[in-house]
Amino acid sequence: MRRTISIFGSTGSIGCNTVDLLLRQGGAEVYDVKVVTGSQNIKLLAEQAVSLKADLAVSADESLLTALTEALAGTGIAATAGAAALRDAAMINVDWGMSAIVGSAGLTPTLELAKQAGVLALANKESLVCAGELLKAACAKSGCKLVPVDSEHCAIFQALAGGKNGDISRIILTASGGPFLDWTLEEMADATLEQAVAHPNWDMGQRISIDSATMFNKALEVIEAHQLFDVSSDQIEIVVHPQSIIHSMIEYNDFSLIAQLATPDMRGAIGFALNWPERRPLPVKQLDFSTMSRLDFATPDETRFPALRLARRVLEIGGLAGAVFNAAKESALDRFIAGNIGFLDMARLVETVLEDLHVKASQMSSLDGLETVMSIDKEARTLGQNWMPA
Ligand code: NAD
Ligand code: MG
Repeated sequence: MRRTISIFGSTGSIGCNTVDLLLRQGGAEVYDVKVVTGSQNIKLLAEQAVSLKADLAVSADESLLTALTEALAGTGIAATAGAAALRDAAMINVDWGMSAIVGSAGLTPTLELAKQAGVLALANKESLVCAGELLKAACAKSGCKLVPVDSEHCAIFQALAGGKNGDISRIILTASGGPFLDWTLEEMADATLEQAVAHPNWDMGQRISIDSATMFNKALEVIEAHQLFDVSSDQIEIVVHPQSIIHSMIEYNDFSLIAQLATPDMRGAIGFALNWPERRPLPVKQLDFSTMSRLDFATPDETRFPALRLARRVLEIGGLAGAVFNAAKESALDRFIAGNIGFLDMARLVETVLEDLHVKASQMSSLDGLETVMSIDKEARTLGQNWMPA
Protein backbone atom coordinates (compact mmCIF):
# COMPACT_ATOMS: atom_id res chain seq x y z
CA MET A 1 0.00 0.00 0.00
CA ARG A 2 1.24 3.48 -0.88
CA ARG A 3 1.82 5.83 2.01
CA THR A 4 -0.78 8.63 2.17
CA ILE A 5 0.62 12.17 2.28
CA SER A 6 -0.57 15.77 2.61
CA ILE A 7 1.55 18.91 2.24
CA PHE A 8 0.26 22.15 3.72
CA GLY A 9 2.16 25.11 2.28
CA SER A 10 3.51 23.05 -0.64
CA THR A 11 4.28 26.17 -2.75
CA GLY A 12 6.65 27.68 -0.17
CA SER A 13 10.35 27.08 0.37
CA ILE A 14 9.87 24.07 2.68
CA GLY A 15 6.90 22.88 0.61
CA CYS A 16 8.81 22.91 -2.72
CA ASN A 17 11.68 20.98 -1.14
CA THR A 18 9.18 18.46 0.19
CA VAL A 19 7.63 18.02 -3.26
CA ASP A 20 11.12 17.65 -4.76
CA LEU A 21 12.01 14.87 -2.29
CA LEU A 22 8.73 13.05 -2.85
CA LEU A 23 9.33 13.10 -6.62
CA ARG A 24 12.92 11.90 -6.20
CA GLN A 25 11.72 9.05 -3.98
CA GLY A 26 9.25 7.74 -6.55
CA GLY A 27 6.44 10.31 -6.57
CA ALA A 28 2.92 9.03 -7.22
CA GLU A 29 4.13 5.44 -7.70
CA VAL A 30 5.28 5.32 -4.10
CA TYR A 31 3.13 7.97 -2.39
CA ASP A 32 -0.62 8.45 -2.46
CA VAL A 33 -0.75 12.25 -2.21
CA LYS A 34 -4.08 13.48 -0.88
CA VAL A 35 -3.62 17.24 -0.50
CA VAL A 36 -1.33 20.05 -1.62
CA THR A 37 -1.99 23.66 -0.56
CA GLY A 38 -0.78 27.13 -1.40
CA SER A 39 -2.05 30.66 -1.50
CA GLN A 40 -1.31 33.08 -4.37
CA ASN A 41 0.84 30.98 -6.68
CA ILE A 42 -1.91 29.02 -8.45
CA LYS A 43 0.26 27.99 -11.40
CA LEU A 44 2.83 26.31 -9.16
CA LEU A 45 0.15 24.74 -6.96
CA ALA A 46 -1.55 23.19 -10.00
CA GLU A 47 1.79 21.95 -11.36
CA GLN A 48 2.61 20.31 -8.04
CA ALA A 49 -0.82 18.70 -7.83
CA VAL A 50 -0.40 17.26 -11.34
CA SER A 51 3.19 16.07 -10.84
CA LEU A 52 2.27 14.27 -7.60
CA LYS A 53 -1.18 13.14 -8.88
CA ALA A 54 -2.77 14.64 -5.76
CA ASP A 55 -6.50 14.18 -5.06
CA LEU A 56 -7.05 17.79 -3.98
CA ALA A 57 -5.40 21.21 -4.33
CA VAL A 58 -6.39 24.01 -1.97
CA SER A 59 -5.65 27.71 -2.14
CA ALA A 60 -5.93 29.65 1.09
CA ASP A 61 -7.27 32.56 -0.95
CA GLU A 62 -11.00 32.10 -1.60
CA SER A 63 -10.99 34.60 -4.49
CA LEU A 64 -8.64 32.31 -6.45
CA LEU A 65 -10.99 29.30 -6.58
CA THR A 66 -11.98 29.89 -10.21
CA ALA A 67 -8.35 30.31 -11.28
CA LEU A 68 -7.38 27.08 -9.50
CA THR A 69 -10.35 25.16 -10.92
CA GLU A 70 -9.41 26.33 -14.42
CA ALA A 71 -5.75 25.46 -13.94
CA LEU A 72 -6.78 21.90 -12.96
CA ALA A 73 -9.49 21.43 -15.62
CA GLY A 74 -9.33 17.97 -17.18
CA THR A 75 -6.87 16.56 -14.64
CA GLY A 76 -9.46 14.97 -12.34
CA ILE A 77 -7.88 16.82 -9.39
CA ALA A 78 -10.38 18.59 -7.15
CA ALA A 79 -9.94 22.27 -6.24
CA THR A 80 -11.15 24.14 -3.17
CA ALA A 81 -10.23 27.47 -1.57
CA GLY A 82 -10.49 29.50 1.61
CA ALA A 83 -9.74 28.98 5.29
CA ALA A 84 -12.59 26.49 5.89
CA ALA A 85 -11.49 24.44 2.85
CA LEU A 86 -7.95 24.38 4.24
CA ARG A 87 -9.23 23.08 7.57
CA ASP A 88 -11.40 20.44 5.90
CA ALA A 89 -8.43 19.28 3.83
CA ALA A 90 -6.39 18.82 7.01
CA MET A 91 -9.10 16.49 8.32
CA ILE A 92 -8.46 14.00 5.49
CA ASN A 93 -6.68 11.08 7.10
CA VAL A 94 -3.01 10.61 6.11
CA ASP A 95 0.01 8.59 7.23
CA TRP A 96 2.27 11.66 6.94
CA GLY A 97 1.39 15.34 6.94
CA MET A 98 3.76 18.25 6.34
CA SER A 99 2.87 21.50 8.11
CA ALA A 100 4.73 24.21 6.18
CA ILE A 101 2.39 27.19 6.06
CA VAL A 102 4.11 30.33 7.34
CA GLY A 103 2.80 32.13 10.43
CA SER A 104 -0.14 31.56 12.74
CA ALA A 105 -2.27 30.98 9.60
CA GLY A 106 -0.86 27.45 9.88
CA LEU A 107 -2.34 26.84 13.31
CA THR A 108 -5.76 25.46 12.36
CA PRO A 109 -4.58 23.01 9.68
CA THR A 110 -1.69 21.90 11.89
CA LEU A 111 -4.03 21.12 14.76
CA GLU A 112 -6.33 19.17 12.45
CA LEU A 113 -3.36 17.19 11.13
CA ALA A 114 -2.32 16.43 14.72
CA LYS A 115 -5.75 14.95 15.38
CA GLN A 116 -5.48 12.36 12.62
CA ALA A 117 -2.08 11.99 10.92
CA GLY A 118 0.33 9.16 11.70
CA VAL A 119 3.30 11.55 11.56
CA LEU A 120 3.16 15.34 11.75
CA ALA A 121 6.27 16.77 10.10
CA LEU A 122 6.32 20.20 11.70
CA ALA A 123 8.02 23.12 9.98
CA ASN A 124 5.40 25.63 11.17
CA LYS A 125 7.12 26.48 14.47
CA GLU A 126 4.48 29.16 15.09
CA SER A 127 1.99 26.38 16.05
CA LEU A 128 4.19 25.36 18.96
CA VAL A 129 4.95 28.94 19.94
CA CYS A 130 1.28 30.01 19.93
CA ALA A 131 -0.46 26.84 21.09
CA GLY A 132 2.17 24.31 22.19
CA GLU A 133 0.09 22.68 24.93
CA LEU A 134 -2.95 22.35 22.70
CA LEU A 135 -0.92 20.85 19.84
CA LYS A 136 0.87 18.38 22.11
CA ALA A 137 -2.45 17.36 23.70
CA ALA A 138 -3.93 16.72 20.25
CA CYS A 139 -0.94 14.53 19.30
CA ALA A 140 -1.11 12.63 22.59
CA LYS A 141 -4.82 11.96 22.15
CA SER A 142 -4.59 10.71 18.56
CA GLY A 143 -1.19 9.00 18.80
CA CYS A 144 0.24 11.27 16.09
CA LYS A 145 4.05 11.42 16.19
CA LEU A 146 5.45 14.93 15.92
CA VAL A 147 8.76 15.04 14.03
CA PRO A 148 10.32 18.52 13.95
CA VAL A 149 11.51 19.87 10.60
CA ASP A 150 13.14 23.05 11.91
CA SER A 151 16.82 22.13 11.43
CA GLU A 152 17.84 22.83 15.04
CA HIS A 153 14.98 20.84 16.54
CA CYS A 154 15.44 18.06 14.02
CA ALA A 155 19.08 17.95 15.17
CA ILE A 156 18.02 17.70 18.82
CA PHE A 157 15.43 15.05 17.93
CA GLN A 158 18.24 13.05 16.30
CA ALA A 159 20.64 13.64 19.20
CA LEU A 160 17.96 12.36 21.57
CA ALA A 161 18.36 8.91 20.03
CA GLY A 162 21.38 8.69 22.32
CA GLY A 163 19.56 9.51 25.56
CA LYS A 164 16.38 10.44 27.40
CA ASN A 165 14.62 13.81 27.80
CA GLY A 166 14.95 13.56 31.57
CA ASP A 167 18.76 13.29 31.33
CA ILE A 168 19.21 16.51 29.33
CA SER A 169 21.30 19.06 31.13
CA ARG A 170 21.32 21.71 28.37
CA ILE A 171 20.17 22.20 24.83
CA ILE A 172 22.56 24.23 22.73
CA LEU A 173 20.70 25.88 19.88
CA THR A 174 23.07 27.06 17.20
CA ALA A 175 22.36 30.28 15.32
CA SER A 176 24.06 31.49 12.14
CA GLY A 177 23.65 35.05 13.38
CA GLY A 178 22.10 36.08 10.06
CA PRO A 179 23.34 38.75 7.64
CA PHE A 180 23.84 41.43 10.35
CA LEU A 181 26.01 39.41 12.72
CA ASP A 182 28.84 41.96 12.56
CA TRP A 183 26.81 45.10 11.94
CA THR A 184 26.68 47.97 14.42
CA LEU A 185 23.36 49.19 15.84
CA GLU A 186 23.69 52.33 13.71
CA GLU A 187 24.06 50.26 10.56
CA MET A 188 21.18 47.99 11.57
CA ALA A 189 18.89 50.99 12.08
CA ASP A 190 19.11 51.71 8.35
CA ALA A 191 19.01 48.11 7.11
CA THR A 192 16.89 47.66 4.00
CA LEU A 193 14.47 44.85 3.18
CA GLU A 194 16.85 43.56 0.52
CA GLN A 195 19.75 43.39 2.98
CA ALA A 196 17.59 41.69 5.63
CA VAL A 197 16.41 38.98 3.22
CA ALA A 198 19.92 38.00 2.09
CA HIS A 199 20.77 35.13 4.44
CA PRO A 200 24.43 34.01 4.26
CA ASN A 201 23.86 30.22 4.59
CA TRP A 202 20.22 29.22 4.21
CA ASP A 203 17.87 29.64 1.25
CA MET A 204 14.47 30.25 2.87
CA GLY A 205 11.16 32.10 2.49
CA GLN A 206 11.20 35.91 2.77
CA ARG A 207 9.59 36.11 6.22
CA ILE A 208 11.82 33.60 8.00
CA SER A 209 14.87 35.18 6.34
CA ILE A 210 14.04 38.56 7.90
CA ASP A 211 13.34 36.77 11.19
CA SER A 212 16.87 35.39 10.98
CA ALA A 213 18.28 38.88 10.51
CA THR A 214 16.51 40.15 13.66
CA MET A 215 17.08 36.78 15.37
CA PHE A 216 13.34 36.62 16.02
CA ASN A 217 13.60 33.24 14.35
CA LYS A 218 15.99 32.06 17.07
CA ALA A 219 13.68 33.54 19.70
CA LEU A 220 10.78 31.48 18.29
CA GLU A 221 13.07 28.46 18.32
CA VAL A 222 13.85 28.89 22.03
CA ILE A 223 10.11 28.70 22.73
CA GLU A 224 9.77 25.81 20.27
CA ALA A 225 12.54 23.88 22.07
CA HIS A 226 10.91 24.53 25.44
CA GLN A 227 7.64 23.09 24.12
CA LEU A 228 9.13 20.14 22.27
CA PHE A 229 11.72 18.87 24.70
CA ASP A 230 10.30 19.93 28.05
CA VAL A 231 13.33 22.03 29.00
CA SER A 232 13.30 25.28 30.98
CA SER A 233 14.60 28.64 29.76
CA ASP A 234 17.79 28.11 31.85
CA GLN A 235 18.46 24.86 30.03
CA ILE A 236 18.41 26.44 26.57
CA GLU A 237 21.58 28.15 25.44
CA ILE A 238 22.04 29.95 22.14
CA VAL A 239 25.45 29.82 20.51
CA VAL A 240 26.30 31.77 17.39
CA HIS A 241 27.91 29.41 14.89
CA PRO A 242 28.30 31.28 11.58
CA GLN A 243 29.08 28.23 9.42
CA SER A 244 25.72 26.50 10.18
CA ILE A 245 27.34 23.07 10.15
CA ILE A 246 26.42 21.98 13.68
CA HIS A 247 22.63 22.20 13.66
CA SER A 248 22.30 21.95 17.46
CA MET A 249 23.48 19.86 20.40
CA ILE A 250 22.29 18.20 23.56
CA GLU A 251 24.40 18.16 26.67
CA TYR A 252 23.42 15.30 28.99
CA ASN A 253 23.75 15.26 32.77
CA ASP A 254 27.18 13.58 32.49
CA PHE A 255 28.29 16.58 30.34
CA SER A 256 28.58 14.49 27.20
CA LEU A 257 27.50 16.49 24.18
CA ILE A 258 25.75 14.93 21.19
CA ALA A 259 25.64 17.11 18.08
CA GLN A 260 24.17 16.68 14.63
CA LEU A 261 26.23 18.00 11.72
CA ALA A 262 25.40 18.38 8.04
CA THR A 263 25.66 20.91 5.23
CA PRO A 264 23.03 23.66 5.56
CA ASP A 265 20.28 22.29 3.29
CA MET A 266 16.70 21.98 4.51
CA ARG A 267 16.25 18.83 2.47
CA GLY A 268 18.27 17.09 5.20
CA ALA A 269 15.70 17.83 7.91
CA ILE A 270 12.68 17.43 5.60
CA GLY A 271 14.02 14.11 4.29
CA PHE A 272 14.75 12.92 7.81
CA ALA A 273 11.13 13.62 8.80
CA LEU A 274 9.81 12.03 5.60
CA ASN A 275 11.75 8.81 6.02
CA TRP A 276 11.59 8.59 9.81
CA PRO A 277 11.99 6.14 11.50
CA GLU A 278 14.07 4.84 8.59
CA ARG A 279 16.96 6.70 6.96
CA ARG A 280 17.47 6.96 3.21
CA PRO A 281 20.05 8.66 0.99
CA LEU A 282 19.17 12.33 0.38
CA PRO A 283 20.30 14.81 -2.29
CA VAL A 284 22.42 16.82 0.16
CA LYS A 285 26.15 17.50 -0.08
CA GLN A 286 28.43 15.38 2.06
CA LEU A 287 30.52 17.28 4.62
CA ASP A 288 34.10 17.50 3.49
CA PHE A 289 36.47 17.82 6.44
CA SER A 290 39.47 18.36 4.18
CA THR A 291 38.07 21.73 3.05
CA MET A 292 36.38 22.70 6.31
CA SER A 293 39.19 24.20 8.33
CA ARG A 294 37.29 25.64 11.29
CA LEU A 295 34.03 25.91 13.17
CA ASP A 296 33.49 29.16 15.06
CA PHE A 297 31.35 29.89 18.11
CA ALA A 298 30.35 33.12 19.86
CA THR A 299 27.92 34.39 22.46
CA PRO A 300 24.97 36.24 20.93
CA ASP A 301 24.63 39.96 21.58
CA GLU A 302 21.25 40.67 23.17
CA THR A 303 21.71 44.41 22.82
CA ARG A 304 21.79 44.24 19.04
CA PHE A 305 19.37 41.31 18.97
CA PRO A 306 16.76 42.07 21.69
CA ALA A 307 14.49 39.32 20.30
CA LEU A 308 16.60 36.82 22.27
CA ARG A 309 15.94 38.60 25.55
CA LEU A 310 12.23 38.80 24.69
CA ALA A 311 12.04 35.02 24.17
CA ARG A 312 13.16 34.55 27.81
CA ARG A 313 10.51 37.03 28.86
CA VAL A 314 7.85 35.01 27.00
CA LEU A 315 8.81 31.86 28.92
CA GLU A 316 8.77 33.82 32.18
CA ILE A 317 5.25 35.17 31.51
CA GLY A 318 3.95 31.78 30.38
CA GLY A 319 0.32 31.24 29.38
CA LEU A 320 -0.35 32.69 25.94
CA ALA A 321 2.66 35.01 25.88
CA GLY A 322 4.00 33.00 22.92
CA ALA A 323 0.87 33.78 20.89
CA VAL A 324 1.17 37.49 21.72
CA PHE A 325 4.87 37.48 20.88
CA ASN A 326 4.33 35.74 17.54
CA ALA A 327 1.39 37.91 16.46
CA ALA A 328 3.23 41.11 17.40
CA LYS A 329 6.27 39.84 15.52
CA GLU A 330 4.13 39.06 12.45
CA SER A 331 2.63 42.55 12.45
CA ALA A 332 6.09 44.09 12.92
CA LEU A 333 7.30 42.05 9.96
CA ASP A 334 4.35 43.16 7.79
CA ARG A 335 5.15 46.77 8.63
CA PHE A 336 8.88 46.41 7.96
CA ILE A 337 8.18 44.71 4.60
CA ALA A 338 5.74 47.53 3.75
CA GLY A 339 8.49 50.08 4.49
CA ASN A 340 6.41 51.43 7.34
CA ILE A 341 8.87 50.95 10.24
CA GLY A 342 12.64 50.54 10.51
CA PHE A 343 14.56 47.33 11.15
CA LEU A 344 15.20 48.02 14.85
CA ASP A 345 11.61 49.15 15.37
CA MET A 346 10.45 45.55 14.98
CA ALA A 347 11.80 44.51 18.39
CA ARG A 348 10.56 47.75 19.99
CA LEU A 349 7.06 47.10 18.70
CA VAL A 350 7.07 43.49 19.92
CA GLU A 351 8.35 44.43 23.37
CA THR A 352 5.65 47.10 23.80
CA VAL A 353 2.84 44.74 22.76
CA LEU A 354 4.18 41.91 24.93
CA GLU A 355 4.33 44.15 28.00
CA ASP A 356 0.87 45.63 27.26
CA LEU A 357 -0.69 42.17 27.20
CA HIS A 358 1.53 40.26 29.62
CA VAL A 359 -0.90 40.10 32.56
CA LYS A 360 -3.79 38.98 30.39
CA ALA A 361 -1.63 36.45 28.50
CA SER A 362 -0.30 34.95 31.72
CA GLN A 363 -3.85 34.11 32.82
CA MET A 364 -4.73 32.25 29.61
CA SER A 365 -3.79 28.86 28.17
CA SER A 366 -3.96 27.33 24.70
CA LEU A 367 -5.81 24.44 26.36
CA ASP A 368 -8.74 26.91 26.64
CA GLY A 369 -9.10 26.31 22.89
CA LEU A 370 -8.09 27.66 19.53
CA GLU A 371 -10.61 30.54 19.66
CA THR A 372 -8.87 31.86 22.79
CA VAL A 373 -5.50 31.70 21.05
CA MET A 374 -6.85 33.43 17.95
CA SER A 375 -8.52 36.17 20.00
CA ILE A 376 -5.31 37.20 21.75
CA ASP A 377 -3.44 36.83 18.45
CA LYS A 378 -5.86 39.34 16.93
CA GLU A 379 -5.55 41.74 19.86
CA ALA A 380 -1.75 41.67 19.68
CA ARG A 381 -1.84 42.21 15.90
CA THR A 382 -4.11 45.25 16.29
CA LEU A 383 -1.79 46.76 18.92
CA GLY A 384 1.13 46.04 16.59
CA GLN A 385 -0.55 47.74 13.65
CA ASN A 386 -1.26 50.86 15.75
CA TRP A 387 2.17 51.08 17.40
CA MET A 388 4.05 54.28 16.64
CA PRO A 389 7.84 54.62 16.64
CA ALA A 390 9.13 57.15 19.21
P1 NAD B 1 7.25 30.48 2.50
O1 NAD B 1 6.84 31.86 2.68
O2 NAD B 1 8.28 30.14 1.49
O3 NAD B 1 5.96 29.56 2.18
C1 NAD B 1 4.82 29.66 2.94
C2 NAD B 1 3.70 28.74 2.46
O4 NAD B 1 2.50 29.07 3.21
C3 NAD B 1 3.33 28.91 0.98
O5 NAD B 1 2.87 27.68 0.46
C4 NAD B 1 2.17 29.91 1.03
O6 NAD B 1 1.29 29.78 -0.07
C5 NAD B 1 1.46 29.48 2.30
N1 NAD B 1 0.72 30.58 2.93
C6 NAD B 1 1.13 31.86 3.10
N2 NAD B 1 0.18 32.57 3.73
C7 NAD B 1 -0.84 31.71 3.98
C8 NAD B 1 -2.11 31.85 4.62
N3 NAD B 1 -2.51 33.01 5.13
N4 NAD B 1 -2.90 30.76 4.71
C9 NAD B 1 -2.49 29.57 4.21
N5 NAD B 1 -1.31 29.38 3.57
C10 NAD B 1 -0.50 30.45 3.46
O7 NAD B 1 7.69 29.93 3.94
P2 NAD B 1 8.82 28.87 4.32
O8 NAD B 1 10.12 29.55 4.40
O9 NAD B 1 8.67 27.63 3.50
O10 NAD B 1 8.40 28.54 5.83
C11 NAD B 1 7.28 27.74 6.14
C12 NAD B 1 7.31 27.40 7.62
O11 NAD B 1 8.48 26.61 7.87
C13 NAD B 1 7.44 28.62 8.55
O12 NAD B 1 6.73 28.36 9.73
C14 NAD B 1 8.92 28.70 8.86
O13 NAD B 1 9.19 29.30 10.09
C15 NAD B 1 9.30 27.22 8.87
N6 NAD B 1 10.70 26.95 8.56
C16 NAD B 1 11.19 27.29 7.35
C17 NAD B 1 12.53 27.04 7.05
C18 NAD B 1 13.09 27.34 5.68
O14 NAD B 1 14.21 26.97 5.40
N7 NAD B 1 12.37 27.97 4.79
C19 NAD B 1 13.37 26.46 8.02
C20 NAD B 1 12.83 26.14 9.25
C21 NAD B 1 11.50 26.38 9.52
MG1 MG C 1 15.66 26.80 12.37
